[in-house]
Amino acid sequence: MKIWIVLEQKDGELHRMSREAIAAAQGLAAATGGGSVDAVLLGGGIATLAEKVAGGYALGSVRVADHPNLAAYTPGGYVAALSAAIAAAAPDWVVFPHTYQSVDYMARLAQGLGAGLLPEVTAFEEDAQGLLFSRPVLGGKLVAKVRVRGEGTMLLSVQSGAWAAESAQAGSGELVTLDGDLAAAKPDREILGVEEVGGEQVDLTKAEVIVAAGRGVGGADKMGVIEDLAAALGAEIAASRPVIDNGWLPRDRQIGSSGQTVAPKLYIAAGISGAIQHTVGMKGSAVVVAINKDPGAPIFSLSNYGIVGDLHEVLPALTKAIRRAKEL
Ligand SMILES: Cc1cc2nc3c(=O)[nH]c(=O)nc-3n(C[C@H](O)[C@H](O)[C@H](O)COP(=O)(O)OP(=O)(O)OC[C@H]3O[C@@H](n4cnc5c(N)ncnc54)[C@H](O)[C@@H]3O)c2cc1C
Repeated sequence: MKIWIVLEQKDGELHRMSREAIAAAQGLAAATGGGSVDAVLLGGGIATLAEKVAGGYALGSVRVADHPNLAAYTPGGYVAALSAAIAAAAPDWVVFPHTYQSVDYMARLAQGLGAGLLPEVTAFEEDAQGLLFSRPVLGGKLVAKVRVRGEGTMLLSVQSGAWAAESAQAGSGELVTLDGDLAAAKPDREILGVEEVGGEQVDLTKAEVIVAAGRGVGGADKMGVIEDLAAALGAEIAASRPVIDNGWLPRDRQIGSSGQTVAPKLYIAAGISGAIQHTVGMKGSAVVVAINKDPGAPIFSLSNYGIVGDLHEVLPALTKAIRRAKEL
């Protein structure tokens, strides 16, 4: 098996999910008999980063496309640079981190190459017939099990948090130039400017204890129970997406596939159902405590402790017990 990973970088720094993609690709190689894993890095002025990647991870090679045409991401430039190289090398798998950027151009790349496309993979397992991939469908309400048939290159993206970045194997790889005529990889749009949304972000990734609120809290005016428990524990407050979309908390408090990925020592999920888009962002937590009035809520399946009940009764009782324990 020949496996490629297309790493994502910005301003000479690897995107966090690039390391997760390396871990996924190395796992795929191990599962398919230990094939080669080569990384591709695109950009402009990325020589330092390329050396760092080549010296940091167990890769066959790091294929670098360093050209002014690729300095700013454009789908046309990236598709042109990658199409020629992938067509020439014909890898069996090309693994991407599932980011806004890869989502923007992967389908176009697959179509041009006549390759298969398997986006948002969260896991794979082996059975008698080969590899079986899991990916969420219908907004994460169902998990589809997908088997790939036929020949040729397959493009695959891996969901945020599905593989741990820390499990990417360290080592080194040979630094080589990506095949192809990069001068022909012309940007297909003019970037007029880049606006950062959010500005100063709260970094929840360093939090040791998180109290997370879900839609079940019921409203911005009812967040007091969350704030009280967080204060008693010295915890950060986080939330599922509906809480953010409803404006009960600012966007930088969101956990999940379109929010932050955290791995605290303790994660308390209150009124959160446990949709995959949320759990990919917190399943690395050491201990998960879930409070939900529905005993069938999916969040209980990944919880160490589950409390079935109304969070407006359970949380104040917990807060009181913690305060009392601290006074002793
Ligand atoms: C492309 C995409 C990206 C997404 N990204 C994210 C993301 O980054 N993060 C994220 O969180 N979601 C994300 N989502 C949304 C996700 O699919 C779910 O809709 C969301 O996580 C559900 O949030 P929730 O659990 O708070 O709400 P719900 O699913 O509505 O669950 C509320 C829960 O609260 C319980 N409850 C209600 N009242 C009480 C009470 N009084 N006491 C105790 N329990 C109670 C209910 O039983 C229920 O289980 C995304 C969706 C899509 C399509």
